[in-house]
Amino acid sequence: MDLATPVTYVKGVGPQRAEQLMAKGLATAGDLLYYPPFRYEDRSNVKPLSQLAPGEVATVLATVKRLHKPRFRRRDLGLVEVIFEDAAGHSLTAKWFHAHYLDRVFAPGVRVALFGKVEFDPYLRELSLLHPEFEVLRDDDEDGGASLHTGRIVPVYEAAGKVTARVLRGVISGLLDKELRLVDALPQVIVEKLKLPPLAQALREMHFPSAETEARVLNAWRSPAQWRMIFEEFFWLEAGMAFKRKQARLEKGIAFDLEPAREQVRRMLPFKPTAAQKRVVREIAQDMAAPQPMSRLVQGDVGSGKTIVAAQAAVIAVENKHQVAVLAPTEILATQHFLYLSNVFKPLNYRVVQLAGSMTKKEKESVKRAIATGYAQVVVGTHALIEEDVEFDRLGLCIIDEQHRFGVLQRQKLQKKGVTPDVLVMTATPIPRTLALTIYGDLDVSVIDELPPGRKPIKTIHKTHVEIEQVWSFVKREVMAGGQAYVVYPAIEETEDKAMKAAEKAYADLSRLVFPDLRVGLLHGKLAQEEKESVMEGFKRGDVQILVSTTVIEVGVDVPNASVMVIENAERFGLAQIHQLRGRVGRGAAQSYCILVTDKLGDAGKERIRTLVQSNDGFHIAEMDLKLRGPGEFLGTRQSGLPTFRIGNLLRDREILEIARSEAQNFVERPPSTEALIAALEYIREHWQRRYGLALVG
Ligand code: ADP
Ligand code: MG
Repeated sequence: MDLATPVTYVKGVGPQRAEQLMAKGLATAGDLLYYPPFRYEDRSNVKPLSQLAPGEVATVLATVKRLHKPRFRRRDLGLVEVIFEDAAGHSLTAKWFHAHYLDRVFAPGVRVALFGKVEFDPYLRELSLLHPEFEVLRDDDEDGGASLHTGRIVPVYEAAGKVTARVLRGVISGLLDKELRLVDALPQVIVEKLKLPPLAQALREMHFPSAETEARVLNAWRSPAQWRMIFEEFFWLEAGMAFKRKQARLEKGIAFDLEPAREQVRRMLPFKPTAAQKRVVREIAQDMAAPQPMSRLVQGDVGSGKTIVAAQAAVIAVENKHQVAVLAPTEILATQHFLYLSNVFKPLNYRVVQLAGSMTKKEKESVKRAIATGYAQVVVGTHALIEEDVEFDRLGLCIIDEQHRFGVLQRQKLQKKGVTPDVLVMTATPIPRTLALTIYGDLDVSVIDELPPGRKPIKTIHKTHVEIEQVWSFVKREVMAGGQAYVVYPAIEETEDKAMKAAEKAYADLSRLVFPDLRVGLLHGKLAQEEKESVMEGFKRGDVQILVSTTVIEVGVDVPNASVMVIENAERFGLAQIHQLRGRVGRGAAQSYCILVTDKLGDAGKERIRTLVQSNDGFHIAEMDLKLRGPGEFLGTRQSGLPTFRIGNLLRDREILEIARSEAQNFVERPPSTEALIAALEYIREHWQRRYGLALVG
């Protein structure tokens, strides 16, 4: 039996439990051993019955005297009362509801340990335990010391379906006692350098802390054992990523010639780039000129001008006779990019096409032909570009906008369409460093940390629904003065339907009752593509003065004349998402406003809204958001590409992650031997890939 043994063959796990465990991703003996308790409970307070006091949490050792099943007239609650007695002759009653099965456990004379909160029972007029944890003691646990569930510090696991913490405790303890063939795959040099405890010891300690570390784990400090297990979980991920980076450097990519692009870029640029834009373009150009494929992430707050940076990269590719693919998360955004790029590339006469899901079959065929023959130089589309049978003639550069909506896998799929094309990823969600290291560990990062000149910071204001009339009259004044406004109902993936209904209702009310004299438009995901486009066009031209919408406008929409945004139910959405949304205003010369409308808020909600009111700094907001919501929620989508960590916690264990990353980097770049590196990759492939939920090393 070793770490790879399927759980079905582990003692205490039958086919039924195996199924439940597998559903939770626990497929092997190793998975179980690497499944950490999420907390520990101190059950070491063992007390004689005579010394129990109401309200305290204690463990008692006692013998079953009698079992009693009171019946109630109305319905059978399955109540089981058991009267216990200890060596000194004191007695105590414990009760369980819905527990018929217990009469098989508590035969008179059976010795047990019970753990729970002591309460005073007003009916019995004595102390009792309600639903205590229990453990039947074998003859050899005289003092309860060798027991598993009581009388000690016990690990508490997150249940796996119907497999309870209690069952897991038993199964894992059984595994730890077994003669498991444990091979520590962590490189010995690292174990020594960081003075890590050996694997077997670390595993045992993580589940059942020894006396020396008990106090630490109870206070949520990390024991050396926990430190090692967290380190290990981060290390293999970072090693996989470091290996990917190393491989990428060995891959042969396109070495673009920068010369022919220089003059063309000058002819194309509609304005003077900011210093930050120039720096990032230089970094991109260096990558593109190098013979290895580029994998670069460009981060920049909303409105920082990422599109024009991407356009310059596109010029380099096109001037080298390669095609460029531009990938956007939604069709609206793809259309925006298409229009924007068609416009900036006009002076250069580039042939820009869009492949849209809403096109007729015939239109699609003809666009696809243009792509396959190389006639189309710049191709814009949604992920349909990678999912459909689109063939490129000479794809040289992939530009992926708003990366956080694309998984790593999709990125790889697109890349396969070209002969190792360069990849440029753009995101407006500033990803805090710890997250960036784990999601984008295989990318280099550039940051546009400056806004184009002349931007006035957006004024953000918080109002509750009670004050909505004020909000509408403010909107009216702004619009009468020549501005335009958004009214947004934000949605997360699952709630798009609700948001759509809310937007539809608001549209009806606003257009008829509140702003009967103004031109109000409606935009949401379920409208036909043509309708969406015509509304968007109307808004751009100024025909539509107030645009009521769901979050379809979240990314990329660019209407400089819009100066007000009202965000409804702002408390329900992520800070980063709201920040992105409000970036749609403040693009013109006028002072812009963002009004966050919420119900009455609790303290936590107020804190979140205050962050938005006080700060316009996307990075600061992202850090706060990550702290308040945690990584999974922060990234917001199932396909965010975030690995699952069971032992480590990205927020708590940042410094361990950094150490793991630098050790992994070092190990992959200078492995003790080629065999050691190959073995490590094999180990990652076999044991870790599945746990992370990532195809790391293929
Ligand atoms: P984002 O980074 O959010 O994608 P965009 O690329 O949409 O930002 O740019 C926002 C707006 O700012 C666009 O209208 C763009 O033309 C304009 N812009 C970008 N860079 C500059 C600059 N250096 N000077 C003036 N305007 C700029
Ligand atoms: Mg953009």
